[in-house]
Amino acid sequence: MSGTSVSIGNIIIPSDSEAIMTLEGQYSSGVYGKRPLAIVRGKGARLWDAEGKEYIDCVGGHGVVNVGHCNPAVVQAITQQAQTLLTCPEMLHNNVRAALQAKLCQLANMGRVFLTNSGTESVEAAFKFARILTGRTEIIACMRAFHGRTMGSLSATWNKKYREPFMPLIPHISHVPFNNLEKLDQAISDQTAAIILEIVQGEGGVHPVDADFIEGAQRLCRERGALLIIDEVQTGFGRTGKMFAYQHYNIEPDLLCLAKSIAGGIPMGAVLINNRLGPIQSQTHGSTFGGNPIACAAALATIDYIETNHLDTRAAELGEWFVGRLRRIESEQIRVVRGKGLMVGIELKQKVTPYLQALMGENILALPAGLTVMRFLPPLVISKEELEQVAQAVEKVLLVK
Ligand code: PLP
Repeated sequence: MSGTSVSIGNIIIPSDSEAIMTLEGQYSSGVYGKRPLAIVRGKGARLWDAEGKEYIDCVGGHGVVNVGHCNPAVVQAITQQAQTLLTCPEMLHNNVRAALQAKLCQLANMGRVFLTNSGTESVEAAFKFARILTGRTEIIACMRAFHGRTMGSLSATWNKKYREPFMPLIPHISHVPFNNLEKLDQAISDQTAAIILEIVQGEGGVHPVDADFIEGAQRLCRERGALLIIDEVQTGFGRTGKMFAYQHYNIEPDLLCLAKSIAGGIPMGAVLINNRLGPIQSQTHGSTFGGNPIACAAALATIDYIETNHLDTRAAELGEWFVGRLRRIESEQIRVVRGKGLMVGIELKQKVTPYLQALMGENILALPAGLTVMRFLPPLVISKEELEQVAQAVEKVLLVK
């Protein structure tokens, strides 16, 4: 069955999966390893392909749709803003941007915010701010870390597969083992501008941080004059059971990197700047689209929805149940099940790709994290019944394979 043909002006939008995949196959850059699936519609935790086949979505746009696909509150805010003002650079003031900046700072008890359009841009901005605020150049990141793919953030990303083709990257970035405070202590010098950490390493395999390590890292930063950058691009906005994952611990980040789910599916990112650091010197950074009114309106609706519907508590409760349910699966293939809130990983003894393909055959979409971890980042509005369906499908593919 093929859908009805649609066009925008004179340009025809392909309507069946084969036509969509053929066109993208021909013209898309080639950098993405694509699955043979053409998604055209979403609602809550469900996606539909061009022929109307339904999937439970545990990819969540790579952890973007915490409030669910096409959340009505977000759609309404975007629609209203689209009829009012589509663009407004930050050299001019703007009403929705002002409200969002204040809201973000209040949420994390921060002083100021720089708005971006993606996670990697938030990390790049944080690195520049750390250098300019400390007058130092070195950044320390962790092994297995993922911070993005542009040249600065890529330099802090650990995986050699992503980094090596682009050497030389930016200098003065080193990596220490995650959760090893002694090694971190040894790596800090009087030129360390910042340490950058994820609270749960996502791409690196769903590894939560130890309280001693993160709290010790903050202590070392304060003692040695370095800044603590927390990268919550993946863990922010309720995902791990708190609005921000660092709030599980006794820390106050100096710079907090956000993106992904901040605006319910619209591209946006942010760097929050701690009260104790002054404003950033004028003209040292900028972005044409940063603070776009549509994205700001979407973010305000997203944050309001998360707060009003207590999606953080929901993620904590459902996540605990889901991890427990997955741990009861008796499969030879499972090494361990880990997670925090609704950021969940199953580490397998074998490569994960064939199992992800088998899950797709069961109408479930999930992600890899590294070579052997099956990762779940469902919308936080997903129901327990839907998660049970996911668990049953996982059980089936892991027992059969
Ligand atoms: N930081 C973390 C922790 C991420 O998980 C990601 C993306 O997965 C990024 C940064 C980069 O974000 P983006 O893909 O929006 O540039």
